[in-house]
Amino acid sequence: SVPLAFFAGLGATSKNGVLIKGSNYLEALNDVTTVVFDKTGTLTKGSFSVTKLIPANDVNENDLLGYTAAVEQNSTHPIARSIVNSYTGDLNQYQVTESTETSGRGIQATVNGHKVSIGNEKAMADLNINHVELDPTGTTILVAVDGKFWGSIIVADEPKADAKAAISQIHDLGLQTVMLTGDNHAVGTTVASELGIDKAVTNLLPADKVTQITELQFNNENPQKVAFVGDGINDAPVLVKADVGMAMGALGSDAAVEAADMIIMDDKPSRISTTINIAKYTRKIVL
Ligand code: ADP
Ligand code: MG
Repeated sequence: SVPLAFFAGLGATSKNGVLIKGSNYLEALNDVTTVVFDKTGTLTKGSFSVTKLIPANDVNENDLLGYTAAVEQNSTHPIARSIVNSYTGDLNQYQVTESTETSGRGIQATVNGHKVSIGNEKAMADLNINHVELDPTGTTILVAVDGKFWGSIIVADEPKADAKAAISQIHDLGLQTVMLTGDNHAVGTTVASELGIDKAVTNLLPADKVTQITELQFNNENPQKVAFVGDGINDAPVLVKADVGMAMGALGSDAAVEAADMIIMDDKPSRISTTINIAKYTRKIVL
């Protein structure tokens, strides 16, 4: 049977905006030594805006944004939505067929008979387009048409208001913090250092994030109990692998909410330390 104090604990967490799927998860939170975060939508707002267009020679800005927006209509990625929203022209002039999205990489489609590929350095490397310059001010979305580099679209996101405080509260509890992201090195390390996160690992594919969690858990010298906090469809496998999985409930994907043990209803990362404190208090009453 479940001790009464656990119901009190679960009640306290729900008052603080965190739904927990069972008292065992609240208890498990006591043993966590490392909190691992996804970046986009978890520590940052996940609402991008286009800040810069850098067309290649002979490419016009309007075509660069128009062809890209046409393809991104088929994606629900927050980056895709920001690109579609920033295009003020008529998307009906583009006929989009054969669209395929690859998570952690990008999306491609045929537009008015041209093969349009959009994404990060990995997506470009598939087309043998290498050594493209990344803009340090934001996430650089690279675009190629018929195998030729067409230019970059820079999109930027910003940290959530309470992200920095959330990290420092977790450190005050004696826990270590790690950020895992599919975004590039420049952006990932900038966000991590702004927020005071102990370690950032960048350029990760969704499967790499799972590997990172297992490496922390099964580290020979210093095995960690890991809580993972994420929001995306891609985060579901990581949420399952972690000792405790926490999902953002408001803007998070259904897949993440389903896979998680706890749901932060208002998407505030500062709820994490509050919940750990409730877990500690609950354990004290139970023991
Ligand atoms: P994160 O780990 O920050 O949640 P994702 O794994 O969703 O990021 O994506 C990693 C990177 O892959 C993005 O930063 C972007 O460069 C690229 N990418 C993924 N999907 C798209 C898309 N639909 N359009 C353009 N780029 C994309
Ligand atoms: Mg994400």
